[in-house]
Amino acid sequence: MRFATGILIGALLTLARTPAAAQEAVAITNVSVIPMDRERVLADQTVLVRGGRIVAVGPAASVPVPADARRVDGAGKWLIPGLTDMHAHLFSDGPVPDSVAADELRIMLANGVTTARLMIGTPEQLPLRARVASGEIPGPTLFLASPQFAGRRYGEPHFNGVVVATPEEARAAVRQVADQGYDFIKLTLFISLPVYEAIVDEAARRGIKVIGHVDPQVGLARALAAGQQIEHLAMYFEAALRDGAPMTGSVSDYFIYRAANWESVDWLDDAKLDSLGRATAAAGVWSTPTLTFFKLAFGTGQPDSVIQARLDYAVLPDSLRRQMVAGRDYYWRNPPSAARRARYVEARNRIVRAIHQAGGRILAGSDSPELFLVYGWSLHRELQSLVEAGLPPYAALEAATRNPAEWLGTLAESGTVEPGKRADLVLLDADPLADIRNTQRIAGVMRAGRWHPAPELARMIDESAARIRASLP
Ligand SMILES: [Zn+2]
Repeated sequence: MRFATGILIGALLTLARTPAAAQEAVAITNVSVIPMDRERVLADQTVLVRGGRIVAVGPAASVPVPADARRVDGAGKWLIPGLTDMHAHLFSDGPVPDSVAADELRIMLANGVTTARLMIGTPEQLPLRARVASGEIPGPTLFLASPQFAGRRYGEPHFNGVVVATPEEARAAVRQVADQGYDFIKLTLFISLPVYEAIVDEAARRGIKVIGHVDPQVGLARALAAGQQIEHLAMYFEAALRDGAPMTGSVSDYFIYRAANWESVDWLDDAKLDSLGRATAAAGVWSTPTLTFFKLAFGTGQPDSVIQARLDYAVLPDSLRRQMVAGRDYYWRNPPSAARRARYVEARNRIVRAIHQAGGRILAGSDSPELFLVYGWSLHRELQSLVEAGLPPYAALEAATRNPAEWLGTLAESGTVEPGKRADLVLLDADPLADIRNTQRIAGVMRAGRWHPAPELARMIDESAARIRASLP
């Protein structure tokens, strides 16, 4: 009952607070639309937005522009749905003050991210989600994973989790986070099989999805059968070791920092990588491979010159820069051989290719703000990584638009450019189907009908970056 009342009051506040700008009409004229309903480009269109919704998409010659509409010249430009980052975190979950969250979200939005799934929930994110939904904070629509479920505490002092060591604890924890209003159950480390079974069963009763890592005690086959949505390609390498391999552990997830485990990369079986991709598709399990983060962190590396040249770097407080450099150098003081790292990257790409080719579904996630890769910029890099892995540009775009909306159950609201949908849009200066890097050439972002042209986006980034940088020493 308490929750029903809260929802009603929330809805009334939303109506009261809907900003005037969301009510104004905007017409993006003569634009090439990539609607993402199927693979096609609609040339010379007018897209009309009013009250935060797309009200018309049609040939420029046949869609009249109302006199009160603000006109955005889309000639020579491409319009895509707003992007979704399916794997994001906030610095404000950990060391950075909570007040900085609004700036973190603002930079995501300025980079075209209009929906984000935050992957380790905190109590502070629940009101944050509501403040974004009401229009009070400009930012992506938020979906919140629960605090992490883990078999024991680790990673202090920022554990942000619930210890689930027994099936009873697991069931109680599922009920608790569902009652608190989190959208998904997020699993990380040290989950035993009995605990996993209790989580999956209780989550099914509550109608809440289970997402995250796969524990070696659970294994990939069980996670696929359970229909868990899997992050980071966790446990695929363990399942893809050649018959007769002298080890069982690998480096797909937990044990990547164990130098000895890297020998397992030599024992990966391509046929098994491919068949696991097919099994994923057959199980209907959707995958967020977070290719960029793992490739750059553990495959190719990120030298100082590369990091410092990125726009991301300007956002980072000095103390976080130092922490990240220390984290990077811990791994790279004794790195695996170049051959093994190259094989590691290619094997991960191969799994993604196999999932896609078998008709499985990929979700784009950046793991921002891990290791110098932050807010939105990192999602564009993930699209590039998906194409490098062998996905056509259209499929990479689907992974950040239509697929997330389908998985989140919000396709009626978002994910494509069609009348009736919330006006979450990104206008590009060049065709992303010709070159996926063109998603980075942003001419403007529209969020729930509110138009932000490129100069305003640049200002938003500068202001928010300055505040984030100043929030810690
Ligand atoms: Zn993560």
